[in-house]
Amino acid sequence: MTTIKLLPDHLVNQIAAGEVVERPSSVVKELIENSLDADAGWIRVKLEQGGKRAIRVHDDGRGMARDELPVALQRHATSKIASLDDLEQVVTMGFRGEALPSIGSVARLDLASRRAGGDAHGWVVQVRRGEIGEPAPLPMQPGTRVDVRDLFYNVPARRKFLRTDRTEFNHIDLLLKRFALARFDVGFELEHDGKSVSVLAPVGSEEEEDLRVSRIMGQEFLDHAIRINEQRGGLGLHGWVAEPRYNRAQADRQFFFVNGRAVRDRLIAHAVRTAFQDVLFHGRHPAFVLFLQIPPGTVDVNVHPQKHEVRFRDGRSVHDFLFSSLHRELAGVGAGALRPNAGLGAGPAAGHETSLHAGSARGGAGGAYPHSGPFQAGMSLPVSEQLSAYGRLLGERPESASSAPGQPTDETSDIPPLGYALAQLHGVYVLSQNTKGLVITDMHAAHERITYERLKSRHAEDGIRGQRLLVPVAAQLSEAELDLAAGHRDELAALGLRFDRSGPESAVIREVPTLLAGADAARLFQDVLADLGSMGSSERVETQSNEILSTMACHGSIRANRQLTLAEMNALLREMERTERSGHCNHGRPTWVQLDMGMLDQLFLRGR
Ligand code: ADP
Ligand code: MG
Repeated sequence: MTTIKLLPDHLVNQIAAGEVVERPSSVVKELIENSLDADAGWIRVKLEQGGKRAIRVHDDGRGMARDELPVALQRHATSKIASLDDLEQVVTMGFRGEALPSIGSVARLDLASRRAGGDAHGWVVQVRRGEIGEPAPLPMQPGTRVDVRDLFYNVPARRKFLRTDRTEFNHIDLLLKRFALARFDVGFELEHDGKSVSVLAPVGSEEEEDLRVSRIMGQEFLDHAIRINEQRGGLGLHGWVAEPRYNRAQADRQFFFVNGRAVRDRLIAHAVRTAFQDVLFHGRHPAFVLFLQIPPGTVDVNVHPQKHEVRFRDGRSVHDFLFSSLHRELAGVGAGALRPNAGLGAGPAAGHETSLHAGSARGGAGGAYPHSGPFQAGMSLPVSEQLSAYGRLLGERPESASSAPGQPTDETSDIPPLGYALAQLHGVYVLSQNTKGLVITDMHAAHERITYERLKSRHAEDGIRGQRLLVPVAAQLSEAELDLAAGHRDELAALGLRFDRSGPESAVIREVPTLLAGADAARLFQDVLADLGSMGSSERVETQSNEILSTMACHGSIRANRQLTLAEMNALLREMERTERSGHCNHGRPTWVQLDMGMLDQLFLRGR
């Protein structure tokens, strides 16, 4: 017979910990929230082994008196709400009174605190196996210091799910960035394995705000950022949005806050994406730090236990407000970004290049030429290259280029599947004639696919061959990006990328893949790092290397609007025939279409 029993406290706490404490970053999040609730002006976080071994969060906030310590460690103990009415208006970060007991049930916890204006020293309480010890005196400054060691030491099943130190650290690093953006008035310091990662002093002026944003988002973001400040119908939106020509391969520079709380919400994401839709090239992601201010009563922030989601009472008007505010700002710069002097190569055909780009970008068809836009501006290829040179551009096999057939002399010889080139249309499409009729090829998409397939096969063989740059290229990177690069040196070398650190926020790129010799090396490097960063562990880098290669291929591809000779066009067509999956570009769009004679006849109502 089973009997119904009350669960012992320790077990209840462990169960609650299952919800509250998922990994080291969730511990840090709870502790920082507590520090913020205690009005801390400085919060210092020290980690060992990605927080798995040790986490210390130290603040200079209001602190707790001796007798408050054991209470704070009990379940449902909170100083923040007393009634259900309070729940409606909570302005503090946490209020469930679960964090400290939960953490104490799955790690060794020391809670040390000294109340400002209280005793001349502090008190420390230890929690071991869920047992709360007696407060002991401890010399310390006013504030609170929480030490959490050996997370999940007593829950092997959960310990198993912790990832590498690097991955766990990255989660915490991102979390700190969110807090640092949400609370400019608070200083943050992060230390990992004895090494200082970042020190952000409290912000007192607008310039200092910019400085903090650049420390977190990178100087390049700030250089391209537009300041937003909109107020309408009780709603406010302010922050920084990068003009569309600063964009990312991953959605890794997007921070959105609702009433100061970091939020990832579908409605918001949709509004932002829609606002960027016609100014950003397909497959690229915008970068922003945005703060939405909304009356507290019209938003429920407690939908999700991790509190990343929100529920708006009037979602429609929030969506409209976000969309229209951003859209208006972006419309202003969108056109500017497409001016030749704003980054596009201003060659002899610049006038018509520009109008073509502008047309495609504004007409809502921007997705059609995802990477032909300003971000490839660094690529320059002489306008009329000979076949051999074009062959080199396509790969490292000059022999394949020289053997590529030109226009056949004998009309009856076998016509290849994609036919022979007739002309180039507006620098975008190659027109060719095959046995069935007319073939139209999107030369950029086709080249991208070819480059991608080549990178894949090289990578699978013995790594992608790099080419030493005659003039190394300097790249501006954030510290986090540099650490990431340093941690993935071998993977990057296998991708044909070699670099040296040249300063706290800069690197010089010494080698790029031979296949991508013409690409903008700094952009290429940054985009690859963004991919790496989003993958975290090395195993994922291994299994998702195709994603990186696809990103790289975008950089190596001929941009639209480059004039090709007939021989070059034919070389491209032959190369497509040799390439697997060349019917679609990496983004799934077709690279060529066939208009057979029957279809053409129909167009002209011509009976056959
Ligand atoms: P909650 O934050 O939901 O109230 P916690 O378990 O996180 O629950 O904390 C319990 C209580 O301990 C808090 O309500 C607060 O009174 C006190 N406390 C926790 N951390 C701090 C801190 N860093 N400074 C001052 N008081 C704190
Ligand atoms: Mg709390």
